[in-house]
Amino acid sequence: MPLDITFAVCATRQDVVNAVNVLRESPYVVIDCEGKQLGMEDGALSLICVGTAFAQFIFLFDVVALTRYDLQPLLNFLGSKVMKVVWDGRMDYIELWSTYNVSIGKNVCDLQVAEVLSRSSFRAERDDERLSRLATSFGPQVWKNPLQFAGIHRVVGLQQCLEENGYKGLVGKDPEVTMMHRQNDTKMWLARPLPWKLLRYAAADIYLIALLYEDFSAKGWLPLGTKFFGRCNRYVTMHEQFGRIRKETGCFRSGPFIPFGILSGGELKNCWKTTCNTCGRNMSLFAFETDGQGSRRRVCRLCWLLAEKFSVSCDSRWVQISISL
Ligand SMILES: [Zn+2]
Repeated sequence: MPLDITFAVCATRQDVVNAVNVLRESPYVVIDCEGKQLGMEDGALSLICVGTAFAQFIFLFDVVALTRYDLQPLLNFLGSKVMKVVWDGRMDYIELWSTYNVSIGKNVCDLQVAEVLSRSSFRAERDDERLSRLATSFGPQVWKNPLQFAGIHRVVGLQQCLEENGYKGLVGKDPEVTMMHRQNDTKMWLARPLPWKLLRYAAADIYLIALLYEDFSAKGWLPLGTKFFGRCNRYVTMHEQFGRIRKETGCFRSGPFIPFGILSGGELKNCWKTTCNTCGRNMSLFAFETDGQGSRRRVCRLCWLLAEKFSVSCDSRWVQISISL
């Protein structure tokens, strides 16, 4: 039976003010953005969707109809310390940061990160299971050279996560809209009036993320604390420095992977780090392949693997390892 999800579309300043007053009462909020090619160079926001705990109230902020002035109460709220629950907040972050200069990185709880952490901490997954997940993207080379994949994790999508946690057939995303996303045909998010099925799809995402939040919480999978929030912050803000993603280099910056330095090591501010000249991330030497003779690749291990997978050229030079003390 289809789930009956109720939501409100906010298209005036007064709607925004009223909605933020409701959101303020919630112990946490669920955030998800919809739009054309989110996070990409030609990306554009259509809706900022925000729900209260248990998705009791779901607000769809129509950013095509609303001016920056209209949206300001919401932007102030999202940039505050309120706990923000997201599912893969990387693209939402780029959009909100590059469009409105608002960061949702403070007290962010990314359930995609929590799902990966739960594998070893609650589900006793061994390292060969982590490699099996990576093999679905990289094939048998995972087994030939497992060191190359150290510290890298493959994430799952929201739909798969719901199914793996017992929600198969109970609730799910609209298959027609999912197909549209898969075919990268997302410009219809900018049409006005927005078709009912898109509004409903956007609201359903908030409902589903809220459902998983409660599910993970009941299972004890949410180690809400400084370390966890730090990991989620590093994940969602990983593109902040470079902004929107260009198509030509998109394979290095978006994808179903948590790269090295997000779950571990990132909090060590004073350890020696160097920059990958492809993804631009600043990481420890461990993130780079070394030749055993004092040199490392200029690109990190994950970028090297992705270049190979997508047959994209990238810098193949080695550089002498030097550490200035
Ligand atoms: Zn890289």
